[in-house]
Amino acid sequence: MAGSALENSALVAQSVEHHHGKVGVSGSNPLGGYFFLTVDEPRRQRDMANAKKKGPVEKIALQCTECKQKNYTTEKNRRNTPNKLELMKYCPFERKHTLHKETKIK
Ligand SMILES: [Zn+2]
Repeated sequence: MAGSALENSALVAQSVEHHHGKVGVSGSNPLGGYFFLTVDEPRRQRDMANAKKKGPVEKIALQCTECKQKNYTTEKNRRNTPNKLELMKYCPFERKHTLHKETKIK
């Protein structure tokens, strides 16, 4: 009767192994497949699109302070030039240099 004792312990070991295997599989399943989403890439593309569309550069007109004609259009970087532009420019209507100040286009 030595064989039956061996058989018994083998059965027990098998059922324990089985039980552990089942728990292991069902426990590890939900962890897989959650890390392939990257949030970084779409955000970087959107930032680049914004920089191309708007950015710190805005279009402005230079208006003659004497005859109020808008003789020049230019662009300025709001980050580098926060103040209103005031430049001595040639006014073709008065045919002389006058002070031109920045105004909005439109
Ligand atoms: Zn003028």
